[in-house]
Amino acid sequence: MKRVQNKVALVTGGAAGIGESIARLLANEGAVVFVTDILDKSGESLAKSIGEKACYYHLDVTQENEWKDIINLIKRQVGKLDILVNNAGIIGLTSDFGPQDPEHVSLESWHRIHAVNLDGVFLGCKYAIPLMKEGGGAIVNISSRSGIVGVPGAAAYASSKAAVRNHTKTVALYCANQGYNIRCNSILPATILTPLWNPMLGSTPEARQKMIEKIEQDIPLKKMGEPMDVAYAALYLASDESKYVTGTELIVDGGILAGSTAAPRSQSK
Ligand code: NAP
Repeated sequence: MKRVQNKVALVTGGAAGIGESIARLLANEGAVVFVTDILDKSGESLAKSIGEKACYYHLDVTQENEWKDIINLIKRQVGKLDILVNNAGIIGLTSDFGPQDPEHVSLESWHRIHAVNLDGVFLGCKYAIPLMKEGGGAIVNISSRSGIVGVPGAAAYASSKAAVRNHTKTVALYCANQGYNIRCNSILPATILTPLWNPMLGSTPEARQKMIEKIEQDIPLKKMGEPMDVAYAALYLASDESKYVTGTELIVDGGILAGSTAAPRSQSK
């Protein structure tokens, strides 16, 4: 028996990076996967490469009407939704977003980032609950370690990811209080090598490699993570193996949040 056999899943931001790995893994483990994104070409070719277990639809998570449409389409086509992975997210470190520190970030840019990272998760939960509540379901929200610590150079990203952690718990408790069999949990990844990192790694292969090595020095496990590392966490939270788990946070960060800088250290050796 596969781990999510015959379940129906919707993955946002599923055309690249972590979302792509989640879509592939859920399909491999028996789910029918609705892959969604704004990158239509990549999404369509991903769904094609997965095969009959996957299909692709355009979904900009900031657009309420598009959420209504995709949920209605799933209802019409398969009649249920077992798994929602709210994965789509942006960090806003490309030049078109402008500075991201709390003193200089523009209100427009702040809103743009929150619209994708937070409003997208809010809308996903809001529209999935009515379809999930009859048969039960699992919502997995992708937050970040940046939702726990402050990030001076990515203020809107950090704020939005902190809000995702909290909203996850609210949704979990609301669904429990209502007697819906819907669980809602978040994953807090860090330093997973995906296209999201491109603006932070430099433009030449040499600069990129150098920067990756620099980042890896600060990670307890001494390497950046792979999208599949997060996908396995999502699979667990999406499957019935986690049937007693709701409102929790699963950190996938190579050990970064286990410690702190300026930790006490003996000088004697
Ligand atoms: P990624 O490689 O950039 O993939 C994210 C996907 O979401 C892209 O295809 C992106 O399209 C899409 N997207 C952007 N805006 C969207 C919208 N409005 N509606 C629907 N899809 C949209 O990023 P990733 O690293 O896989 O990140 C996935 C999630 O993990 C994000 O929520 C991110 O914040 C979180 N996360 C990642 C890391 C990490 O180290 N990689 C760490 C912590 C948390 P575009 O390419 O056009 O933007």
